[in-house]
Amino acid sequence: MTTRYEIQISDLLGRYLVAAKDLKAGENILTDEPFVLGPTSDSALVCFNCYLPLISKFLVCKNCAVAPICPGEGCPESFPKRWHSKSECEFFRNLKLTKSLNPMTMVQNVGSLLVLRAILKKDTDPQAWAEFMKLETHLDERRNSSIWEYNDNTVKFITTLGLLDNVLDESLVQKVCAAIDVNSFEVRGPPIPVLGYSQPLRGIYLKASLLAHDCVGNTHVSINDNNVLVCHASMDLKKGETIYYNYTDPLKGTSLRQHHLRIGKYFKCNCERCKDSTELGTYLSSAICPECKTGYVSQSSDQQWDCHECKKKFEHSKIWHTVQCCSDKFDVINKKDEKELEEYIRNVSKILAPNHYLLLEATQRLAGVLRDAINREPHPTKKLMRRKLQLCKELLPVLEKLCPGISSTKAITLYEIHVSLVQLAKKLFDSREITGNGYMDELMNAEKYLKRALEMLFIEPGNSPEGELCAKALEEYRALKATMNNVLDGIHAEGKTYVPPCETARPITEN
Ligand SMILES: [Zn+2]
Ligand SMILES: [Zn+2]
Ligand SMILES: [Zn+2]
Ligand SMILES: [Zn+2]
Repeated sequence: MTTRYEIQISDLLGRYLVAAKDLKAGENILTDEPFVLGPTSDSALVCFNCYLPLISKFLVCKNCAVAPICPGEGCPESFPKRWHSKSECEFFRNLKLTKSLNPMTMVQNVGSLLVLRAILKKDTDPQAWAEFMKLETHLDERRNSSIWEYNDNTVKFITTLGLLDNVLDESLVQKVCAAIDVNSFEVRGPPIPVLGYSQPLRGIYLKASLLAHDCVGNTHVSINDNNVLVCHASMDLKKGETIYYNYTDPLKGTSLRQHHLRIGKYFKCNCERCKDSTELGTYLSSAICPECKTGYVSQSSDQQWDCHECKKKFEHSKIWHTVQCCSDKFDVINKKDEKELEEYIRNVSKILAPNHYLLLEATQRLAGVLRDAINREPHPTKKLMRRKLQLCKELLPVLEKLCPGISSTKAITLYEIHVSLVQLAKKLFDSREITGNGYMDELMNAEKYLKRALEMLFIEPGNSPEGELCAKALEEYRALKATMNNVLDGIHAEGKTYVPPCETARPITEN
């Protein structure tokens, strides 16, 4: 594979990646194995070899008699990766003899395992270690902060292993903690078979950690079940363009995204979206103007919110308090209850802009609740199907703006729109509310959404939840084509012909 990216350096971004040639949407930019992978700092106990959660009992490694590992049959064979390496095992075995290291110490310090494994790389993989040490750490901002104190436990643990001999090394542990905090990617831990329960992991990917941030990225990053990270271009990129990855949740408002970046990554984002109080015209953080009741007010400075319509200015505290009340209310409602979510959306729609992130989250939750209800009930109602369809369609234009090009959330939304269209059309046709021709119109409409979903899902790694959805969607595409052929046969059997609608005609299920 020819190199698709090159590393550049600037004062603002540090080391970052740019496209080394023109790249097409969906093109693979880089593939990366983890330098280290391990539990988060507040993780529950996991097997040191395969990272499966250890719920009630565990064994210790036969060789070192220190590392807690899976009981019974041992680690499942389907997880090929073994993280308790030979050299680590020998290291533990040695400490067992010289410093009476015991399994309980390891159990109590599972949150420090990732840091320990990173430090052990210093000797086992000096080249990668040198690269790791070059990563951004923001050490000065962290010194004397609560996070510095929090990491004291890890420093003490590493000290007891005899890995450090002077004060200077303590700051090395802090530096490793910082490099992990600032640069790690969230990784799904392996789930316990049948139960599905897993512990979240964090991984350091040396190439991918050089991706610069923008609140509207131009890449799509996925990590498969073997912990391999793949980064694709989510849109066409020109040679020399900066390659951006969005470290934050694109469906959160600017103040929440900025907070997340400040706390976790130690920088203030200054991207186009962050500088635009309308968030690219989505009004994702805006409220309905208390004065004109038709315009939206957005925060224009620390002190002030402005109405885009009547131009009236409001004190920050006044609008902030209103938004906070809506947020507090969302925290306490039952997010699995259809009625509570509907009521929340009804009430908050009178106060916040239609695409406010709180409303979007409620919309996503409600669409999920309705999807489960439709799948569960033997005879789901048309009303239920129409409502779910409407909710998914409300999400789509926001996703098109904030996650342009390829995005998993958008692919899932498109897929769900297709599911609703097909279910609803079948129901209408079965109850003779639409003719064969009407049914065909609906199925062709659904096919458009499914095709777009598939175009995005194709790049997902096979062994990931999105990859599994891709396989399912492909299966449904075949079924949809078969249904369409049957409906066409039915139309022909009646001696009629099917004429597809012109693009502007609107199928009936859309309202
Ligand atoms: Zn295991
Ligand atoms: Zn061992
Ligand atoms: Zn930003
Ligand atoms: Zn106004």
